[in-house]
Amino acid sequence: MLFRTHIVFSLAVYFLLNYILEMPFWVLGFILFATAFVDVDIKSSKIGKKWFFCPLQWLTRHRGVVHSLLATILLSGLVGSFNLWAGFGFFVGYVSHLLMDCFTKAGVRLFWPLKFKIKGFIKSGGVIEDVIFVLLLLGNIFIVGKMAFNIFS
Ligand SMILES: [Zn+2]
Repeated sequence: MLFRTHIVFSLAVYFLLNYILEMPFWVLGFILFATAFVDVDIKSSKIGKKWFFCPLQWLTRHRGVVHSLLATILLSGLVGSFNLWAGFGFFVGYVSHLLMDCFTKAGVRLFWPLKFKIKGFIKSGGVIEDVIFVLLLLGNIFIVGKMAFNIFS
């Protein structure tokens, strides 16, 4: 999936969680960072363009270990060892990225190192993804608008 789709989906997940949980606002930063981070294993992604991630890309393949539950747990645990809310945000962002990728035709090896792939029917960057992106974007705008309305009224 495209960077923008991951971002709007994670934002929607944040709003949903924020409705249920009493969490600090900055947790959103960790959610968005983790969502962007997962595609570090591909050179064409926003974050994967950075030269210092080249060695990682030589070692792994796209949608390999970085796109797995194992990496989710290890990295979130690492971040969470510094701050629990940060680890929680990182975990949420990471999982939301993996969840979206599970709906794509290319699929995800969620249980890496097992070869088993979870696949969907959506083509990355295709029309269905565009529709999902627009719907999520409108949903987010609606929620932000509602929040602003509640603050100023
Ligand atoms: Zn991905």
